[in-house]
Amino acid sequence: MSSENSSADDERRTADDGQRVWDVVVVGGGPAGASAAYAAAVAGRSVLLLEKAELPRYKTCGGGIIGPSRDALPPGFELPFRDRVHAVTFSMDGKFARTRRSRNMLFGLINRPEFDQQLVEFAQKAGAELRTGATVSRVEQHGSAVPDRRTVAVVLQGGETVLARAVVGADGSASRIGAHVGVKLDQVDLGLEAEIPVPETVAEDWQGRVLIDWGPMPGSYGWVFPKGDTLTVGVISARGEGAATKRYLEDFIARLGLAGFEPAISSGHLTRCRAEDSPLSRGRVLVCGDAAGLLEPWTREGISFALRSGRLAGEWAVRIAEAHDAVDARRQALNYAFAIKAGLGVEMSVGKRLLGAFERRPGMFHAGLTGLRPVWKAFAGITRGSTTLGEIIRSHPMVGRALTTLDRRPEGAEAAEGER
Ligand SMILES: Cc1cc2nc3c(=O)[nH]c(=O)nc-3n(C[C@H](O)[C@H](O)[C@H](O)COP(=O)(O)OP(=O)(O)OC[C@H]3O[C@@H](n4cnc5c(N)ncnc54)[C@H](O)[C@@H]3O)c2cc1C
Repeated sequence: MSSENSSADDERRTADDGQRVWDVVVVGGGPAGASAAYAAAVAGRSVLLLEKAELPRYKTCGGGIIGPSRDALPPGFELPFRDRVHAVTFSMDGKFARTRRSRNMLFGLINRPEFDQQLVEFAQKAGAELRTGATVSRVEQHGSAVPDRRTVAVVLQGGETVLARAVVGADGSASRIGAHVGVKLDQVDLGLEAEIPVPETVAEDWQGRVLIDWGPMPGSYGWVFPKGDTLTVGVISARGEGAATKRYLEDFIARLGLAGFEPAISSGHLTRCRAEDSPLSRGRVLVCGDAAGLLEPWTREGISFALRSGRLAGEWAVRIAEAHDAVDARRQALNYAFAIKAGLGVEMSVGKRLLGAFERRPGMFHAGLTGLRPVWKAFAGITRGSTTLGEIIRSHPMVGRALTTLDRRPEGAEAAEGER
């Protein structure tokens, strides 16, 4: 680096009082944050990744890695699979069980603590600096903590302030950065999960096979995801039905004959889907992953959304960091929003239609997946990443029309929908 560049660099990296100014500060070290930090670091920027927990940390999650998640990983990343899924048993609240098999792998299963830590290590190798045990309490874009208009102050619990030219909020579904940006939601669900260690004979029975059970509450479902000697058993349903969701999980576990095994971990976590007109940025701050409410509304699959939006946020944060005034920063933030809306936004709106149809007619979904080969093939193609629901609807307009018919609300259903 020439001395001219070096002094320009130093000037960029220190505020008037000599405090370091990072090009990009990322808040949250999950898949979204690690992905953003990696993208910004690979572009040669100074990146600080702030994570409140010590790593590896637990995250309530099935750990299902579908094709789009695999495809969004940094080059050279090896997935730490605990199992590879070749068969799916579908049931309806424990009844009408039928298993579908596939010669090719459908999707993979990982343990989140391991997977997330590996992603963070990739970001570190690309040059990002990691600080764990650092809880961000707020960001400020004006006021005494901010030395100039091109800088954002990230305030940590305890009062310490970190300065950045751009901030990426990837702090999950209870996001403080999301609150700063003003993220609006139109779907919040509660997921409950138990990590159940099982004896070898039980583990063998589940190897390579998952169970998906359509639940008793509208839009709910349960799953068993095997991870070697442990089964991840969970359910998800609309928030506000906590007692019924808990009962569903207990009944589900009992029905499967797993009630006698003590879970190593039992936990719950909210998932949130953004409203279509929700902002994705404010000034020099972008949000991605769960913090932005980016999630597949029907399956609540969020790892691929976190990885993909994280990478885009990291790339656009680099451009915001380079922006010399508010107008340029705003232009770059809008470009980020366009990129998200054109890709993940479209997938979310198709997913929302699917959820609407599923809430009203779960039996049709069950019958289709277990009885109709094209429906099963579409499911397999989506999990493998060889197609998307959007593509299927575009190439088979009949599927779109069928969804519209299934999604048609009976009279008076809007009021009930409002309550949800
Ligand atoms: C029960 C359940 C099952 C699921 N199963 C699947 C599945 O099988 N497949 C799938 O693709 N998706 C699944 N999801 C969704 C998936 O878990 C999330 O979408 C995904 O974790 C989002 O990643 P993220 O990086 O945005 O957020 P997170 O993974 O939540 O990461 C956020 C990080 O930010 C940190 N943080 C939070 N606040 C602060 C702060 N103030 N300061 C600093 N750090 C902070 C947290 O400690 C955390 O490490 C599931 C979700 C639930 C609830």
